[in-house]
Amino acid sequence: KHQVANKLVQTTCPYCGVGCGVDVVQSGGMTGSLSELKGSAEHPANYGRLCIKGTHLLETLDGNKRLLKPVVFGQPASWDEATSIIAARMKSIIEQHGPDAVAIYGSGQLLTEDYYVANKLMKGFIGTANIDTNSRLCMSSAVVAHKRAFGEDIVPCNYEDLEHTDLLILTGSNAAWTHPVLFQRIERAKLRNPDMKVVVVDPRETDSCSLADLHVALKPGTDAVLFCGLLNYLAHHNALDDTFIQNSTNGFAEALAEASAWTVAKVAQTCDVPVAVIEQLFNWFASLPRAITFFSMGINQSTSGVDKGNAIINCHLASGKIGKEGSGPFSITGQPNAMGGREVGGLSNMLAAHMDIDNPEHHATVKAFWQAPNLITKPGLRAVDMFQAAADGKVKCLWIMATNPVASMPNRALVEAALKNCELVIVSDTAAQTDTLNYAHIALPATGWSEKNGTVTNSERRISRQRGLVEPMGEAKHDWEILSMVGRAMGFEEAFAYQHPAEIFAEHCALTAANNNGSRALDLGPLADLNIAQYDSLRPQQWPLSNTHRIGTDRLFADGSFYTPDGKANFVAITPRLPEQQTSAEYPFVLNTGRVRDQWHTMTRTGNAPRLLKHIDRPWLSIHPVDAQVLDVKDGDLIKAEAACSGGIEVILPVKIDDKQRRGEMFAPFHWSATWGSHARVGALLNGANDALSGQPELKHGAIKLSPV
Ligand code: SF4
Repeated sequence: KHQVANKLVQTTCPYCGVGCGVDVVQSGGMTGSLSELKGSAEHPANYGRLCIKGTHLLETLDGNKRLLKPVVFGQPASWDEATSIIAARMKSIIEQHGPDAVAIYGSGQLLTEDYYVANKLMKGFIGTANIDTNSRLCMSSAVVAHKRAFGEDIVPCNYEDLEHTDLLILTGSNAAWTHPVLFQRIERAKLRNPDMKVVVVDPRETDSCSLADLHVALKPGTDAVLFCGLLNYLAHHNALDDTFIQNSTNGFAEALAEASAWTVAKVAQTCDVPVAVIEQLFNWFASLPRAITFFSMGINQSTSGVDKGNAIINCHLASGKIGKEGSGPFSITGQPNAMGGREVGGLSNMLAAHMDIDNPEHHATVKAFWQAPNLITKPGLRAVDMFQAAADGKVKCLWIMATNPVASMPNRALVEAALKNCELVIVSDTAAQTDTLNYAHIALPATGWSEKNGTVTNSERRISRQRGLVEPMGEAKHDWEILSMVGRAMGFEEAFAYQHPAEIFAEHCALTAANNNGSRALDLGPLADLNIAQYDSLRPQQWPLSNTHRIGTDRLFADGSFYTPDGKANFVAITPRLPEQQTSAEYPFVLNTGRVRDQWHTMTRTGNAPRLLKHIDRPWLSIHPVDAQVLDVKDGDLIKAEAACSGGIEVILPVKIDDKQRRGEMFAPFHWSATWGSHARVGALLNGANDALSGQPELKHGAIKLSPV
């Protein structure tokens, strides 16, 4: 009998935005088994390290919990039947109500190739920009902040910068739990250089504080005040880079004028932090040569998330701490491919390849490149608005891919009403049971990690291959394949004739280079000619890649030029705003939400691995001891949480008394949902208020009342 030799295959972890390389031993080829998973020693994101989620990836591959066959209106169906019915129904809805009556809600779990085909189908051929993803919940505020400041959605830093800085400010990030491999990298950098200062800006004393020289336990939602105060401080302490401001930026005077009211004393009072703590942080930023501000969901998930991002960027521009080793504002994405999605235009206000919907030149480039009959001319609906439009009857067909919005979106009552109201709900997922699948008219089995084959981009702009290691389970198909089948069934045969993800990747890379000539940093031109073998062996690559963009650039803006029309970065004048969901006499407590170390999103994968439940196996609500006394509850008691928007949905959680929590403020993880047999759906307590500029919901700040059960 022919024996297939064991093979070591490199792929990428499918969880967080660190994007760690993973080596897996494949025995018996694509129909065989997988074993001996470990971190890839050569991958620049992790150099061999993995966190516990990555280490136990193989345990999450539970075939018993997979969706294995298409199901159409409750009946098993073939792929041809399912995709023909979807195409016919979508065409009929479009004929009756126009293209904006259909929408796709996708995910940062999709690979770049999946994202590309979904965007091309919707924006170029169906003719609607109603395609948004759960990346809207993750980093859309950072995208807008980057575009306002730099002219393009660019993260200037790379992971090595974390090892070469003098001051690392972690703000709105519990990296020890959410980006563990990067946190380990920071730990080692500090061990090597004990003079390196680490500051954690977070209302809670999280595990990331284990490394902190200073913890700024600010009042939730006051981050922009802190960074406006820092800008003002820099101006008054001879810490400006006047040459850089003069030669490479616009708008400094206006930004400083707006920030000038924020004295240290006023910042301390507004942020509810001692003056000495604020002084210390500001002094380090002003006096140390290199600084990184590492920011994540605590900044982005806010009704003023864009302004918070720009308040941070302003400080780096003012001090010239950008484009240099160990310096810069560093947005860290939550999801594995939020960046790749952005690169192909994976949000409803983007076109493709970092081109803009309202730019006539960009429009002409994409239209010609795709030979698109119906290229969009206006932005589509953003995540929360998409569900509102479905609840209002404007969106009739909603296709949800690789995400579980009933559990993860704010305002669960609205999401459920939207899905009940749609004429057609299509859900593509790997799992056979999720909160969202309960509402599907058509359920499509999609491939998951170990089966999917394509590319992802991590938080430092590095493109890595996620490789197919085994054949898809049951009749599961790749998302790009499903989309292509529907595209062909709708009559767009030629444009969706893809047979392999390498063809899609090559097309995407060619589009990034089309009419580029140095005008956009995202340029993957040299990868546009890869054949299947070259694509299969592609090593991690950091963009920009083309000759016009300094090949393999690891740090952007080193030459002080940006991607705005005049090449200068923009300061943005910021007026700090408080969160929209404010407490009141009826709802007196602040609710903060977040992740636990060993779980991922709504646990449809990590919940399968018993070892990942060892760290924390149930949801909870953290309560300060004094609040617990007032509420007359003790550790483990059940408590009911209600918000003005709960709509009768009961959220009941066990109490965890926690003196690392500020008084009057509560914390709950968002992972657990009805699928997991609990009443821990914290999304029901948040009203969907979102940033007007980015559409990112305010998932970090709700107002609740509590009563013991
Ligand atoms: Fe995966 Fe993120 Fe852990 Fe790396 S740090 S192994 S990418 S979850």
